[in-house]
Amino acid sequence: MKIDIIDLKKRYKDEREDLLKIIDKVLKKGNLVMTKEVQKFEKNICKYTGAKYCVSLNSGTDALMMAMWACGVRKGDEVITTPKTFIATIGSIVHLGAVPVLVDVDEDLNINPELIKQKITKKTKVIMPVHWTGRMCNMKEINRIANEENLIVIEDAAQAMGSYFNKKHAGTFSKVAAFSCHPLKNLNALGDSGFVITNDKKIFKKITLYKNHGLVGRDRIDTFGLNSRLDSINAEVLNFRLKKLKKLINLRKKNIFLYKKYIKTPKIKIIDEKKHNISSHVIFNVLCEDRDLLKKYLEKNGIQSLIYYGTPVHLHKPMKKFGYKKGDFPVAEKLCKKILALPHNQYITEKEIQYVSNKINNFYKRKNYAS
Ligand SMILES: *Cc1c(COP(=O)(O)O)cnc(C)c1O
Repeated sequence: MKIDIIDLKKRYKDEREDLLKIIDKVLKKGNLVMTKEVQKFEKNICKYTGAKYCVSLNSGTDALMMAMWACGVRKGDEVITTPKTFIATIGSIVHLGAVPVLVDVDEDLNINPELIKQKITKKTKVIMPVHWTGRMCNMKEINRIANEENLIVIEDAAQAMGSYFNKKHAGTFSKVAAFSCHPLKNLNALGDSGFVITNDKKIFKKITLYKNHGLVGRDRIDTFGLNSRLDSINAEVLNFRLKKLKKLINLRKKNIFLYKKYIKTPKIKIIDEKKHNISSHVIFNVLCEDRDLLKKYLEKNGIQSLIYYGTPVHLHKPMKKFGYKKGDFPVAEKLCKKILALPHNQYITEKEIQYVSNKINNFYKRKNYAS
């Protein structure tokens, strides 16, 4: 048996006819930017998330950067976030000349709200929680702190399309939130794209200008901007896939239910979901002992697994200039050594999950697995 994490080939096989029809339909119209398909996508996202406004963009990274830009984040401002994230969270902060101020995570891999207060200074402007793997951060607590300290909250909801906290969709707990439609996210385009959602009309208008060179009309510029437009083909692909998102997330939820049923070793810990939350389950991370040996063993048995990521962001080379070093975030560092993402996608079968689980159980049963 050969079991992959990523299902893009299977997905293409499944959706081929629909996708080719969409591409043909859009290409026939002869216009590929700023078209009705894009407006429709933004409307659909508002409907799905309950946000007032959506601006579609080129990537989740642009969404993060433009969200902060529109909130007035400038050189020297401090943005509080977590070392357990994808480097884009930090890159977008640094790109604006701002300073990433990191706060350790809790055992659920999300920012630990209890540690935020001690990192707030006069320069702090934004708290940026990351809903890692789609598991929601404690937004009640984070917003309480932000209100007390008069700070802006911007959610990095790149992985959280389809996630809910107390029945409200991810991204609706902050002034503006960034989402990614990268091919490996739950709602994915045929390449890079992303979007922001907000209830704030001013933010909406600013980002709408930023993403299109600051153009108000063909020959009038109100501000400087960039090019970060979602193209019409991908907008229509996303419209098509958005209709199937709930089903996809339910299938992913079922996978985890099955893994819980079949994995029978105390050496593997599955992080529980809080009752009042729904995760998008973009990635299925388990915490395991002897992770690297297990990974090798699975590989030998045809099972792909991935580490998102082995290095917490503060230990990457360009972070040195901010003075971070090993030992700064003990929980993130500890968990980075244990996390492993198991095969988990909408096409995996119960048999395959059982196979993976059995291999894991066997690995730990072997007497000298650690040698
Ligand atoms: C994917 C991701 C991003 C970046 O999104 P892109 O669309 O790839 O630019 C940012 N933050 C997190 C947490 C992500 O997972």
